[in-house]
Amino acid sequence: MAGPLKRIALFGATGSIGASALDVIARHPDRYVVDALSAHAQVEALVALCARFRPRVAAITDETRYVALREGLAAAGLETVAVAGAAALDEIAADDRNDTVIAAIVGAAGVASTLAAARAGKRLLLANKESVVLAGELLMAEVAAGGATLVPIDSEHNAIFQCLPQHGDHGGVRRIVLTASGGPFRGWSREQLVGITPEQACAHPNWSMGRKISVDSATLMNKGLEVIEAHHLFDLPAERIDVVVHPQSTIHSLVDYVDGSMLAQLGQPDMRTTLAVGLAWPERVEAGVAPLDLLTIARLDFEAPDLGAFPCLGLAFEALRAGGSTPAVLNAANEVAVSAFLQRRLAFLGIPALIERTMHRLPALPSATLDDRLAADAEARRVATGLLA
Ligand code: NAD
Ligand code: MG
Repeated sequence: MAGPLKRIALFGATGSIGASALDVIARHPDRYVVDALSAHAQVEALVALCARFRPRVAAITDETRYVALREGLAAAGLETVAVAGAAALDEIAADDRNDTVIAAIVGAAGVASTLAAARAGKRLLLANKESVVLAGELLMAEVAAGGATLVPIDSEHNAIFQCLPQHGDHGGVRRIVLTASGGPFRGWSREQLVGITPEQACAHPNWSMGRKISVDSATLMNKGLEVIEAHHLFDLPAERIDVVVHPQSTIHSLVDYVDGSMLAQLGQPDMRTTLAVGLAWPERVEAGVAPLDLLTIARLDFEAPDLGAFPCLGLAFEALRAGGSTPAVLNAANEVAVSAFLQRRLAFLGIPALIERTMHRLPALPSATLDDRLAADAEARRVATGLLA
């Protein structure tokens, strides 16, 4: 009844999205089988996942951990083949022994494997939003050329994907509205944000996520990256992408049509729904997510984002409007800033300050190829790291 088995390659298997994806996959052994898993450095966690899901191949992108992975797999009595290095992911993405790639690596490090999956015409479940910010035009061109099916694995974009007409153009769309929880510091003033610690920033009120995206949610850079992501995925200019703060995180986003209709997708704040949509679309499968109880939710609130206390959202709109190399610079400077903040080398309010200084140091350059984008990314990391010191 479920049709042929889908064979899944999961990049970033040891992360938060990786765990949610494997949870959904494990519920449907009649539909999904794991062909490949990757992790960056966590050999033990990767071997444990291999023991459970028995993939054909396991990749560790930190090459210094290759021997540990090979020996760990052998010690566990597994036939899974160990491979290492970022290029190994490109090969897996292009391999026709899998038909579905879940791009769940964090950061620009995921860009090459994401592009490779698009080029190979896979069903691409795309969580790695930084690769869209870095190389959105290139990605959408590869999707079209390769005949890939892209399903966004970001709750907002997945909601819009579900609310847009599945056939025809988007001519009747007036604008899309991305909802934002507002993060743990919603309603706080700039003065209150001065002494924020990584622990406070990572304690998201609604979602449980990896540390980088948790900090991005606290600064509102996550919404900024999502605006740029939406621009590419749905081919809409900045003027037709709005952001509204919605603290309950029940409405995951909305599409506003010219006839006055507004369509929303609602659900629990649980990425398994999004992943189940991506895996089964256009069918629907059980995701292990409790149904929404509207009477328990009782009310839905909306407010405008505070761009004064949270400048990162405005910086992202600025980068989108500047175009060229600037979104790559924004993303790279943010990765440097968040990493420094998590290591307690930069204050919370230093994050937008560092990104802004890096952006203004590096004016927009025309940026057509992946090499151009990667050069802008590298230059922004160099400048941001220098400004930190
Ligand atoms: P995470 O930190 O929990 O996991 C990241 C994964 O990427 C791990 O498996 C890690 O081994 C791997 N990784 C890290 N650095 C790498 C590198 N240099 N090369 C290769 N692999 C590397 O992150 P997460 O929260 O699961 O987020 C993953 C992606 O999904 C991010 O782009 C994030 O913005 C996006 N996303 C996450 C959520 C969520 O709920 N967690 C929601 C929407 C979008
Ligand atoms: Mg999101």
